[in-house]
Amino acid sequence: MDEPSPLCSAAEGSFSSTCKYALFIAILGLCTNTTEASGAAPSSLTTREPAIKAVELRWNRLAPYRAHGTFRFAVGHGGQAEILRRIESVRARWTDDRGDTVFRFQTVYPEPYERLLDFVDWKLIEMPFPRLQRLGRGDEERFLCECNWPAPVRRSVVTAYQEKAPETFANLLALKPGVADELVRLNGLPRPISCREWAVRVAKLNALPEAGLENFLFDVDRASPSVGRKPLRDGQDDRCSYCGGRFIGGADVAISFTGPRHGDNGLDNLVPAHGKCNNSKGDFLASAEHVERWTELSRRLDADLAAVARECGWPRDRGRSTAVARAVCLRLSAGARMWRGPDTLDSVDHTRFRRALVPVGHQR
Ligand SMILES: [Zn+2]
Repeated sequence: MDEPSPLCSAAEGSFSSTCKYALFIAILGLCTNTTEASGAAPSSLTTREPAIKAVELRWNRLAPYRAHGTFRFAVGHGGQAEILRRIESVRARWTDDRGDTVFRFQTVYPEPYERLLDFVDWKLIEMPFPRLQRLGRGDEERFLCECNWPAPVRRSVVTAYQEKAPETFANLLALKPGVADELVRLNGLPRPISCREWAVRVAKLNALPEAGLENFLFDVDRASPSVGRKPLRDGQDDRCSYCGGRFIGGADVAISFTGPRHGDNGLDNLVPAHGKCNNSKGDFLASAEHVERWTELSRRLDADLAAVARECGWPRDRGRSTAVARAVCLRLSAGARMWRGPDTLDSVDHTRFRRALVPVGHQR
């Protein structure tokens, strides 16, 4: 093998840092997406879960930049570049140019999707998991989680676990006590900061202006999607979710109370509302009665939303949307104020939130 050049060493630094940001963002999202009935964050994750997030984060992000040439999330040929190439080739083979989403791919082609996850899972286990908690060039400091596998790990061992021999490999990431809850509590802060840092580094690697790249990578401003408008409006008898008034002409489809900052763009997180009601709500969180109406609507329209999701390739996961809402609502302090209507703010009502936001599998 050739001697590594000084450039490669510099590149390794960039590779490892962009990779770490992406992985950290995935873990952050998972802690919020998988809260328990009480609102508590999970105590462990599997390596498979960040792999799902990793595919999600990259799949839809590439098409608009194809004109620019090969889009890179990393320098060189390391694990992250391999993940990207594999996603690109799978995407080219299994989807057409209609802007297919990972959600549609997963639904229509479950086997190739699972094989892609196997590959990404393996690449994350090889790297960057073992480096995630290494600070600079120093020793590893396990401040987030314990990974219970010996490094370096052989591919065959990981393949055996993926082929349903779980005893061969411990794919659990045991989160340190309190870590997941703190991450969920602070999600509104570290998520945008980490997304921003990742975007800046990716922009640098691709010699792109960083403005706009963050939105592109994370959908932070993907509001008012039109796909769910009709079933959502029909499901509410053509009435606004917030004021109950009829729509005359157009309706906005608003991102629901958890808002885009928490990274949930699922179909279930949308509500039909008047533009003026949505503007009045602004950045406030919606009050308990809106939360109750929202969960009732997404439960009642479950089959319709599933059909829209299949047809449009728009992601949906009712369990995830409810978990994110729990992460946000059940952590509000007693003094917080929630928006009920123009000029009307309610106090926090944890009892009603807890009742409305039961995990999907536990609903009657
Ligand atoms: Zn309204």
